[in-house]
Amino acid sequence: MGTATTGQVILVGGGPGDPDLLTVGGLRALREADVVLYDHLAPLTCLEETKAGAVLIDVGKIPRGCQTAQTDINALLLEHAGSGANVVRFKGGDPFVLGRGSEEWLACAAAGIPVRVIPGVSSAIAGPELAGIPLTHRGLTQNFSVVSGHVGPEHPATTVNWDALAKSSGTIVILMGVAHLQEICAGLINRGLDAETPAAVVAKAATSDQRVIRGTVASLPDIAAAANIEPPALIVIGAVVGLDLGPAIPTTATKE
Ligand code: SAH
Repeated sequence: MGTATTGQVILVGGGPGDPDLLTVGGLRALREADVVLYDHLAPLTCLEETKAGAVLIDVGKIPRGCQTAQTDINALLLEHAGSGANVVRFKGGDPFVLGRGSEEWLACAAAGIPVRVIPGVSSAIAGPELAGIPLTHRGLTQNFSVVSGHVGPEHPATTVNWDALAKSSGTIVILMGVAHLQEICAGLINRGLDAETPAAVVAKAATSDQRVIRGTVASLPDIAAAANIEPPALIVIGAVVGLDLGPAIPTTATKE
């Protein structure tokens, strides 16, 4: 291996699930890759585009806790790129929106591995949009926040300013939060958000199983619990959720 030249790592955002939402650059990178490390949230049918002999590694299945798994993923990136491979790290949505792309970049940089990033369409924006919920609407809402609900507002480990969020008057998009929906909605109401603010859960956005559950911040936890939401799902809260845009023509992935 001593003569091998150093390869590279390309961090590719795969979009929220519909293969049509992978960028042209992302598709080209997949086609040219020697090794692909992929998550289960990436549009997996796109892996059929890889060249013969490409090594496909499912890193969504690495056992043990998140921290260890990320260490293992970093090690795999360095191992393959270090021996000359053109490595694609294929992720759901955008790599830098709660996606750990920057951790992988730092690991590569520390090892002298060149990194390229191809941004993706984040579920934070595409998910609400495909459900007919615009994040902004002239005269109604001029700002939106995207936050992690991996830990809820009452958890000591949260770094989200839930007080400011409750008073932000804009649209709130919460990723990884459905398991804490009750705590999140109650926490926002307790911090000053109007309990009647329209709110929705969008599940499996950009797939043929997409579901949208609507209510208010007060009613959504019970409605969502009764609806048996399956992951991945996101929460969107704000006046824009109350807009009725009318029926949309289904996208490639959502049409029957
Ligand atoms: N980097 C990704 C987000 C990773 S965090 C992005 O930009 O989209 C994972 C969370 O994203 C999930 O818990 C869920 O809240 C959300 N998510 C990802 N794909 C989704 C989809 N197709 N539909 C709804 N939510 C999705």
